[in-house]
Amino acid sequence: MKQLLLFLFCIPQLLLAQSNWCGTADKMKAENQAQKELMQIIRTNMQKKSGDSLLIIPTVVHIIHHNGNGDISDLQVLDGMRVINEDFRRTNADTINGNPIFYPFAADCKIEFRLAKLNPNGDSTSGITRTDTSIYPHPEPTNANFDNVKYIVNWPPNMYFNIWLVRHISGGALGYAQYPGTAFTYGGPWETYGPTIRSYEWGTIGSSASDGRTATHEIGHCLGLYHTFLSYSATCGAECDTTGDEVCDTPPTLPTSGCTTANQCSNDMMGPSPFTQDMTDQLENYMSYNTCQNMFSLGQKDRMRGFLTTLDTLNGLYLDDNLIATGILQATAITELPNTENRKLLRIVDVLGRNTPFKKNTPLFYLYEDGTVEKRIVVE
Ligand SMILES: [Zn+2]
Repeated sequence: MKQLLLFLFCIPQLLLAQSNWCGTADKMKAENQAQKELMQIIRTNMQKKSGDSLLIIPTVVHIIHHNGNGDISDLQVLDGMRVINEDFRRTNADTINGNPIFYPFAADCKIEFRLAKLNPNGDSTSGITRTDTSIYPHPEPTNANFDNVKYIVNWPPNMYFNIWLVRHISGGALGYAQYPGTAFTYGGPWETYGPTIRSYEWGTIGSSASDGRTATHEIGHCLGLYHTFLSYSATCGAECDTTGDEVCDTPPTLPTSGCTTANQCSNDMMGPSPFTQDMTDQLENYMSYNTCQNMFSLGQKDRMRGFLTTLDTLNGLYLDDNLIATGILQATAITELPNTENRKLLRIVDVLGRNTPFKKNTPLFYLYEDGTVEKRIVVE
């Protein structure tokens, strides 16, 4: 018995050790009640498939460097944005490198990240901040340095998706993420919501030494995706919608690295699975640890959009009011011109995108019926 216990204990540790480039933990082994209730609401919204409209997410990239170590150029930041958007929109050039049996399940997630053009004060911005500090984070929530850099600089999470790029992460992880909301393991306060990624893993130019896809993977976690394997259990699970990654069109698998075709689990058709046969492992999935990643699945798309459209802090990000407040929508229509009397005023919003009554001496956005927007301050 002693030997058996030792054996059970060792397996997950070994599996973790062989490929631990992502510092994000697997989900809780036992779901708590709040998580169960929230997942039920999210699943209901997933069944609506949250429409198929393009969800544009205002984004800010915080570069946390030390004396320039870990600082990257604006061009490299833009290149990293290109990579994640190509991956989320499935406009990446390598879609045809996958196994054709998964082509019908590959998704354009219709999610786009755009750098903000207005900061939380309503002032012009590049959507990039730079902070010089000697600290760097630890990926374990129990460590005192967990998320330390996030408390130095963060923008309101109900307006912006925050991404932190750092020069180093303790323990060797290339990135780690925070699941959305407080109900989930590795969830947490909203002010620290977002991925932490080494700056040399961002984009493909400049100081980058990678394909930029650590960010794609970590943002997947932030939008509610688990690994396609679950390393803590190292089992295939059972029903596809309640075990493993809870996504039915990513076949259950065990953690592997590299890119050698394999079929580690035979329960691919258990639960509401779209598969009619036992499938090979989906090495192409961004949420695997394999090196030939090039797809999110349709089920992952529904799950991410389910989280985005359900959670209160996230479901205002992509709305017109917020796109205006962050300078992304109709930026050219935002003027300082005086009111034109024959237009009908629809509503007034503040710089945080909230409806507000008329106020003097405050910068406010005036939204008119003809689609125009004015940013004005009425001075007393
Ligand atoms: Zn991960």
